[in-house]
Amino acid sequence: MEDGRIVAVGEVDRSADEVVDCTGCAVLPGLINLHNHVPNTLLRGVADDVPLEEMLPKAAAIDAKFTRRDVQVGALLGCVEMIRSGTTSFHDLFYWEDEVARAVRESGIRGFLSWVTLDESRTTQHGNPVKNADAFVAKHKGDAIVTPSVGVQGVYAASEETFLKSKEVAERHKVRMHMHLAETRGEVEGHRKETGLRPVEWLEKIGFLESRLTAAHAVWTTINEIRTLARHGVSVAHCPVSNMKLASGGVAPVPEMLQERIDVGLGTDSPISNNSMDLFADMKIAALLHKATRWDARAMPAQTVLDLATIGAARALHVDSEIGSIEVGKRADLAVVSLRGPHTTPFYPETLMSHLVYSCRGSDVQATVVDGKVLMADRTVRTLDEAEVVVRAQETARELFEA
Ligand SMILES: [Zn+2]
Repeated sequence: MEDGRIVAVGEVDRSADEVVDCTGCAVLPGLINLHNHVPNTLLRGVADDVPLEEMLPKAAAIDAKFTRRDVQVGALLGCVEMIRSGTTSFHDLFYWEDEVARAVRESGIRGFLSWVTLDESRTTQHGNPVKNADAFVAKHKGDAIVTPSVGVQGVYAASEETFLKSKEVAERHKVRMHMHLAETRGEVEGHRKETGLRPVEWLEKIGFLESRLTAAHAVWTTINEIRTLARHGVSVAHCPVSNMKLASGGVAPVPEMLQERIDVGLGTDSPISNNSMDLFADMKIAALLHKATRWDARAMPAQTVLDLATIGAARALHVDSEIGSIEVGKRADLAVVSLRGPHTTPFYPETLMSHLVYSCRGSDVQATVVDGKVLMADRTVRTLDEAEVVVRAQETARELFEA
């Protein structure tokens, strides 16, 4: 690696300032978490075993007390957790993303950060959400490690006007868009009752669907809606753990999305609804979910699932020329995963894909590199004082919880 990029792969006859020992390990393209709300680490465990409709008000009651500092502390904790489990990029949807950006820079992880918009009447944000998103994007555009974008909460929280204003901001700045779409049956039915159209149909009618957009979930979508998303080049963040935990019902039709050539990646979603950010766990669950519900052990094989968490997510964000695979010239974003544990033995090269998806855990990651910078080696995070981040997060969460 040189100047943040991969300059050679395989046997290399060069000297280096630093050599990371990868004996008995696989070197992977760093994993990409395509849908997250990272400051919500502080709410981990506060709203479990209830559906989305009950989870949201519980979360909102604490969220309403968030200060800028809380958002930063929560984001730092999430960044540490992701670095420790081999995630090198994440796609976030939250407000005060400038505080998340601060955590990203401090930790060294790559952040694709979407400032969420919704109707002013429904937000806890200070000021107008669309104007906030506009200012955030303007300030962080062109940064090496922070890629800003415009988010929209979903059809249940944003009017046609909010959607179109957000799109105008994204187009003006030439940045991406990120939203929740067709997550629950309630969302789809509610929108149909209100507008006569299902969310995908309505978004197409108002002219919101386009290749700049990544939609999280897309659980309740018909084959026609999948074709609509494909036709407009919309990419999808599949969040199987969150969908299962909130009992959203149904299963996102990911095999059909892939068949229709939609770019799909894997997201953990919020730490309130996952509750972890270990993409190794989510890869395994994604594979099992589709096999189990289709009675087809061949559905979603290991390689397909690993692709979702790497190059698939990079394609979804239109950054596959820069990240998502190990190739000369790409940014050096890597995860070094041990295959020496009892749970990954015996190991043969032929079993690599299957071990990575079915046996490995985030705790097998030995080193994480982003943009050529070693963020963790020998399981020690270098960029942050991990113990201090954990203590601060614990204190901050307790204050919020008890306030
Ligand atoms: Zn979400």
